[in-house]
Amino acid sequence: MSLFSNTILEIALPVPLRKTFDYVLLDQSSPSDNSIQPGQRVVVPFGRQTLVGIVIREKSDSEHPVEKLKPITQVLDTKPCFDEQQFQLIHWAAEYYQHPIGEVFHAALPKLMREAKSLEQLTDKVLVASDALPNDIPAKAKAQIKLQNLLKQKTLTKDDLKQHDISTGTVKKFVDQQWASWQTIIPEIKTINQQHLNAGLALNTEQAIAVSGINNHSGYGTFLLEGVTGSGKTEVYLQTIQEVLLAQKQVLVLVPEIGLTPQTIERFRSRFNVDVSLWHSGMTDKQRFATWYKAQTGQANIVIATRSGVFLPFSQLGMIVIDEEHDPSFKQQDGFKYHCRSIALYRANTLKCPVILGSATPSLETLANAQNGKFHPLKLMQRAGGSQTPKMKLLDLNQCRTEAGIGEPLLQQIQQTLDDGKQVMLFINRRGFAPVLMCEECHWLSDCHRCSGYTTYHKSSNQLICHHCGYQQQVMHQCRECGSTRLNTLGVGTEQLEHFLTQHFNAHPVIRLDRDSTAKKGEFERKLEQIHQGQPQIIIGTQMIAKGHHFPNVHLVGIVDVDGALFSSDFRAPEKLAQLVVQVAGRAGRGLQRGEVWLQTKFPEHPVIQDLVNNQYADFAQYALTERKELALPPFSYQVILRAESTTSEFASDWLSNLSVHLQQFNQLMVLGPMPSPMAKKAGKFRHMLTLQCPSRHYLHKVVDWLIENLDTIQNSNRIRWSIDVDPVDLS
Ligand code: ADP
Ligand code: ZN
Ligand code: ZN
Repeated sequence: MSLFSNTILEIALPVPLRKTFDYVLLDQSSPSDNSIQPGQRVVVPFGRQTLVGIVIREKSDSEHPVEKLKPITQVLDTKPCFDEQQFQLIHWAAEYYQHPIGEVFHAALPKLMREAKSLEQLTDKVLVASDALPNDIPAKAKAQIKLQNLLKQKTLTKDDLKQHDISTGTVKKFVDQQWASWQTIIPEIKTINQQHLNAGLALNTEQAIAVSGINNHSGYGTFLLEGVTGSGKTEVYLQTIQEVLLAQKQVLVLVPEIGLTPQTIERFRSRFNVDVSLWHSGMTDKQRFATWYKAQTGQANIVIATRSGVFLPFSQLGMIVIDEEHDPSFKQQDGFKYHCRSIALYRANTLKCPVILGSATPSLETLANAQNGKFHPLKLMQRAGGSQTPKMKLLDLNQCRTEAGIGEPLLQQIQQTLDDGKQVMLFINRRGFAPVLMCEECHWLSDCHRCSGYTTYHKSSNQLICHHCGYQQQVMHQCRECGSTRLNTLGVGTEQLEHFLTQHFNAHPVIRLDRDSTAKKGEFERKLEQIHQGQPQIIIGTQMIAKGHHFPNVHLVGIVDVDGALFSSDFRAPEKLAQLVVQVAGRAGRGLQRGEVWLQTKFPEHPVIQDLVNNQYADFAQYALTERKELALPPFSYQVILRAESTTSEFASDWLSNLSVHLQQFNQLMVLGPMPSPMAKKAGKFRHMLTLQCPSRHYLHKVVDWLIENLDTIQNSNRIRWSIDVDPVDLS
């Protein structure tokens, strides 16, 4: 066989290296009827491993001697997994976030597609009768007769066979005899018409303006749908989605990690008689593959997805909705640190389709874009369906006694609310019984020896658990420093609150919703169900209850602890606090009676607290934007964080210091640090960071390109692990 007829292919592999690899495709491994195209998956040897890679392109030559190139083991697909537009999207994302392209390709594939299985092997098949199916099967072969009769009526899926109790042996016989064969299901694409749509609600004026604004727009456009909780944003999504469906296009609805509630799904499914598929981390690999495949073949009309759904391979994407666009879970914090919203905007731009960003509390980035004319602002100021926004009350903790972190007046208000037959919701963003154990004699605190944080006391398991690194230990009886047995808890977590309230209000149930209490499968749903029955009860929860859920009988919401966020080193902390307070407050009084929100604080005069109680989120946001502008902070500048971690603090810090000297050549760049990360030690590693800030995104990315080229030449780079975070939203 002559080498000249072999093809050189550039392949992206899922390895943490910022490069691609050349392989040769020997003649016989190429599928006969197709040439190799970019975006196809191949199997290749890599060191001692076998990896699934993506074809980037065919090359006429390689920098390496051609005879040294390893051959491709297998071509997995007959057509590309990524169309041209997605291919370009992945390239852009890898470059923008400075992440190895092979890993980005893999992040965009469902897990089953990252394995060496062909699409053919993964897709569901049906059993189809052949012409050779005999008519003279002996009557005593009952099972065979049964299958024969079924096959005469229709093609059979695996589920059909199971349902009719047909054994695999019988099926095998038919296949071996060539009486029947397994064939790939040809996806059936419905044409959507009015009959697939149920009538929507009659829109109020604000909603009508929003819907027509979006529907009358053609091509790319980003709409900020800013509407208080309960103002009917979802109804606006539904009535714009309807038009997209009628145009025979697909819709992607992105929701925060924990926002995918059964109610949301139900609302979409009851409005549209079309395929509404899901994509989230709670699904099995098989279910995820099914959604991926349906998106690609056009069978899925609507996909409701969490963050990584932004990479799904739609064949006819016509609109993207991002609900709760401000939510931090849209930014991936580790590995490939992309922001779902940025990817969505880029994607919509190349597809020339609209994006709706919905929120009661838009991120300051988005608000700035609405103000500078890049996004179209749409507002819903009133709650739809008649319910009123809740009353906000401040409870000054300096002025009252507290029990388990709850001020006396709030306890009385809880009693009153329960007596009135209503529900109470208490929000506290801290799991466990108490955030730390303390020695009364020497004031030793239960710190984690691997992190710069403390271990949380979990009473039910009698353990101290570090929420940063997962380290667990049994609770000790004596202080580690002085040996005293006078160990006591400090501060309050969900578990303690539950414990206290259960005793204090013993006539009413107390439900705790946090990661620990809902770890068992079905537990979360069971608790939601209990809340929805509406009896007076107290609901205690973390983040998990802050958004999305609609609990009509919750009248009083208490936010137990807001003070931590007031003095944070993260300039986004007030923004996050304001968003959280508004979201949590949105749970109050969604029924007919006006609800109440109580904010407990030791700093009642703090301007952020004052703004939250007396003004709207919009006022807070405007003030915060002005402040950011004065300080030239994002969104009025762009940031990249370079993190370094090492076994000693000096290695990481010195390495970043060295680097910052080199960065002096970039005169438009502001370099902050190096400084220890807020979590300065985590899981035994010391962590430092360098923040690069610049008014020009373009210039900043030039600096980043330089970094990627030169980082490994900085002294001691083998002793540290670095990572780059473009447009960071979380400093930790
Ligand atoms: P959001 O998504 O902004 O939180 P929803 O879309 O969930 O708000 O709407 C809140 C409630 O108001 C829902 O029960 C919804 O059915 C109702 N609603 C929304 N729009 C209208 C309308 N135009 N007329 C009557 N009720 C409405
Ligand atoms: Zn002690
Ligand atoms: Zn730890």
